[in-house]
Amino acid sequence: MSENKFQRNVRIAISPVCNMKCIYCEGNSGFGKNGRTAAMEDIRRTPICNGNITTNELLEMLKVFYKVGFNGITLTGGEPTTNKEWDKIVNAAANIGFERREMTTNGLLLGDYFRTHGKLPKLTLVKISFDTDNKEEFNKMTGGNNFDKVVDTVKTISPHIDIIRANKVMLRKDLKDLNRYINFCKSIGFTAVNLLELVAYPNSTWTEENRKFFKEQFVPYEEMIQELRKVENLESKRYKYGHISITKDGFQIMATDSKYTIRDEQCKNCPIDCQQGKFTVRIATDGNITMCPDYKSELVSFNGLEALKNDTLEEKLRKMFKTLTTVPEIDWFDQFRKKYDLL
Ligand code: SF4
Repeated sequence: MSENKFQRNVRIAISPVCNMKCIYCEGNSGFGKNGRTAAMEDIRRTPICNGNITTNELLEMLKVFYKVGFNGITLTGGEPTTNKEWDKIVNAAANIGFERREMTTNGLLLGDYFRTHGKLPKLTLVKISFDTDNKEEFNKMTGGNNFDKVVDTVKTISPHIDIIRANKVMLRKDLKDLNRYINFCKSIGFTAVNLLELVAYPNSTWTEENRKFFKEQFVPYEEMIQELRKVENLESKRYKYGHISITKDGFQIMATDSKYTIRDEQCKNCPIDCQQGKFTVRIATDGNITMCPDYKSELVSFNGLEALKNDTLEEKLRKMFKTLTTVPEIDWFDQFRKKYDLL
């Protein structure tokens, strides 16, 4: 891929906490090793009592990301809207020059935000974690009476944003209801769904039960597409993380595909050998930076704030940018499954 076509976003955790209690999120079980609660993508290395980097420090770091060639951001957390300055960060990113300003959210607060402010900040895409259209199941999964509120958010903001996408981790048990799920998403105002492959993270805490669940519930993208073809004669084409189909009425159905991943020299000696490989750079709420899905804070990372202060951030980010733009994608997934007995 040539450098001028590089389109991957920096993933920024801007809040170490979440206002839902999803069963699949590590934080739900209480305080993790770093004293964090439900902060799935906040790959921080320091205890939560040490606090977070400030918005201004984050924006200074983002200017360097933009300078080396990154042209999009995705806000994550925890739940990004629990950071009171999330809207300021979105608008400041637009001013820096980031073309894509995306947010992955549980959607709980966005409807109220819109009603209070009468508009959204300069977001180009909102991704809402929406794993099921079954109200009872949704409430059980998210640990509260959240379904109606999230549906209200989608209905409220969808006329005011170009793309509003439902993110769903695809499980085998849900395959038979996929068409119903997609129709429900369309009916409330989503313009797209992203069917995410189930991800295994076979580190030292990986259990036999985890392995069994993955083997039973993992659905390869080919099967998802086959299921959708039963309803509509969908053609799919490759995009950066997987495949995309567009229905006759313009609704986008995306399916991630673990076959396409970037592995560099560092991956050869990795203790995890992850499923996803390197597809982005992540900034944690304490300014920690990594390219790995470092959910247990055990992989290679560096202190971004320190690098900003001692003027080494640009050099470090250039190396990461080069990896993402020049290292070819390879099909690693079968090896990964063999290694961890997941076939
Ligand atoms: S965890 Fe990081 S180093 Fe290990 S395989 Fe994944 S991307 Fe590579």
